[in-house]
Amino acid sequence: MTINTNAMKKLPIALLVVMALSACETPATDTAPAPPSEVTEAPKEDTQDWLSSILQPIPTDISYLMGQFNPATHPDFTPIANTYTTKSNIYLRKDAYEAFKRMYREAGNAGIVLKIVSATRNFDAQKLIWEEKWTGKRQVDGEYLPVEVTDAEDRARKILRYSSMPGSSRHHWGTDIDLNALNNDFFAAGEGLTMYNWMTNNAHKFGFCQPYTTKGSERPNGYEEEKWHWSFIPIAKPLTDLAKDSLSNEKIEGFLGHETAVSIGILENYILGVNPNCL
Ligand SMILES: [Zn+2]
Repeated sequence: MTINTNAMKKLPIALLVVMALSACETPATDTAPAPPSEVTEAPKEDTQDWLSSILQPIPTDISYLMGQFNPATHPDFTPIANTYTTKSNIYLRKDAYEAFKRMYREAGNAGIVLKIVSATRNFDAQKLIWEEKWTGKRQVDGEYLPVEVTDAEDRARKILRYSSMPGSSRHHWGTDIDLNALNNDFFAAGEGLTMYNWMTNNAHKFGFCQPYTTKGSERPNGYEEEKWHWSFIPIAKPLTDLAKDSLSNEKIEGFLGHETAVSIGILENYILGVNPNCL
């Protein structure tokens, strides 16, 4: 198997961090200088320094990209402490975890509690979710799909509104987390809205970006909006580039309904169908 990773190898880590930080910032709507403030913000240089210092080597193999490993035994992964999550035995990459912990502390200072409700899911974990939905063991929007959606491509598209095909999920990478509630309504008012607004304004300082934003002209394809899902971009961006260069829809296989990956275009429409500010 030939893997084209030349583009990434040529990019120094510091540059990737700069790209990630600038990519995640919301574009300014006006160019007026900010008013003087009592609060001294850390200069961006410092943010880049600490982010660069925590990064581990960027994975370059496609089996990692497709989640074909066990995070419990992978040297780059660490279990998430109970303080930070509602689950047990879940894992993140060590660099993404370090950045999350800093973000958690900063959010806490603003009275906001971030709780990880899902993190790394490898190929086998995603296959379990996908096949439970495919076979009707788990309902999707109140429907038993084998009975109510008999066409394979339609059934796959229905699952794909919020769940990835095994081998194509950002949750494989150890860079992506779901926070607080798997429900956009939670983030529309009250504490959910406060938390979402804080994340929108601050997550980029810690390398995090929301990949699944509102569908529209900026993001016409892919999963529905997920206000809970955040990606650690200094590692997730090079992995997205690796997918673009080295993955194909034909390689997405090994589960029920995999044959629909090609006609649906999982790579171009879903893996690459993310918020352009996260690319
Ligand atoms: Zn997610």
